[in-house]
Amino acid sequence: MFFRQPRYFADFKCVGGECPNSCCIGWAIFWNKSEIDKVINAPNCSPELKALMESSFHIIKESDDPLYAVTLKDDRRCPFLTEDNFCRIQRELGAEYLSDVCSIYPRAHFITKNTCYNYCFMSCPIVMHKLLNEDRSADLVNLRIKEPVTMKNALKFSDKTKGEHPATEYHEEITELFYDIISDRKNSVETNVILGALAAQLLTKTADNGDYDKIPLAIQEIRKQLHSGAELKSIENIKPNYSLKASTLGKFLTFFTKLNLLAPISDENGNISVELYNKGEQRLAEVYKDKTFWLRNVALNLLLELRVPLYPVERNIFENYALYAASLGMMKYAAVVAAVLTLGNTNDDAVKKTDEIVTTTSAIIARNFAHSPEKVKLLLEMMERAKFLTPAHLALFMK
Ligand code: SF4
Repeated sequence: MFFRQPRYFADFKCVGGECPNSCCIGWAIFWNKSEIDKVINAPNCSPELKALMESSFHIIKESDDPLYAVTLKDDRRCPFLTEDNFCRIQRELGAEYLSDVCSIYPRAHFITKNTCYNYCFMSCPIVMHKLLNEDRSADLVNLRIKEPVTMKNALKFSDKTKGEHPATEYHEEITELFYDIISDRKNSVETNVILGALAAQLLTKTADNGDYDKIPLAIQEIRKQLHSGAELKSIENIKPNYSLKASTLGKFLTFFTKLNLLAPISDENGNISVELYNKGEQRLAEVYKDKTFWLRNVALNLLLELRVPLYPVERNIFENYALYAASLGMMKYAAVVAAVLTLGNTNDDAVKKTDEIVTTTSAIIARNFAHSPEKVKLLLEMMERAKFLTPAHLALFMK
């Protein structure tokens, strides 16, 4: 059995009080009752910390070990966060008293037949910084491990889920296929995402026919086709539709982030300005001219974060892939808007400012989609209503 993980994973370190966008601000963090009791009953727990523990949670779900959420303060800070941005529980009692969620974030894991995939959420700005600045940081590397592997909070499709959704039996093969497609450096990321849409469509057809045993064969066939380059010409001929792309992705983003991300690329009459959008794209290309890998790294990490294309299991492979393509399209759109906001700056300032805005907006988008199953479902419903669940529409989002 192997750990399979992006290169950045092994040396990730939380910067705590130095963090520019701390996960302890603005997030509803979950704790179980047993985790809360462990702190309250700790021999060294001070009366002040005990009182704070007793007043800082609200119940989310009744069960044998009920689930609570931290009640944030009016300024949206976690009540346990000290003025110098350290965790009071950790400082007073040690990291072993943190909840699972607090101790593990931003790391995450999912387990397939032979592999435990490790990764970090890019909602953490330090992870995002590595993806934006270090070439090949999202490349997967293998580490051999002793069986059996037990990881706190690791996700794994249960036998019941595999029975109800047999495509999940091939989680590993499907993950590797899409990782290979998106990481192929011969093509642009945009082209690869469109090729992925065609692969997702083929796999969905196989699964819809009930031919689950043929999924490994379908994967082999897809790999052969990709190798022959047969689809590339037609993808290259797709003409971009800036207006549709900007208005659709901009509206989705504004809806989910509550930030008006349409205004910076609109003219004085409130209409999307294709000219401004194009200037933003050019500025973005200048800003990242030495880091052309940034979008590929983000795209690869997003594959792991969203467990593409098998999650949510009640949706089919193509629908889940469409969600991924739209989320990535939104991240790129936000980066273009960030670059538009720097158009008045000198080149050096623009690089710094664009990098900051891209890191922050991508973190907000990642928070919305990788940590919020309700929003994932809502986005899919919005795309379905707008009849955007087709390879052609995904191509228009990316081109
Ligand atoms: S967001 Fe990342 S770096 Fe910042 S406090 Fe959380 S884990 Fe640490």
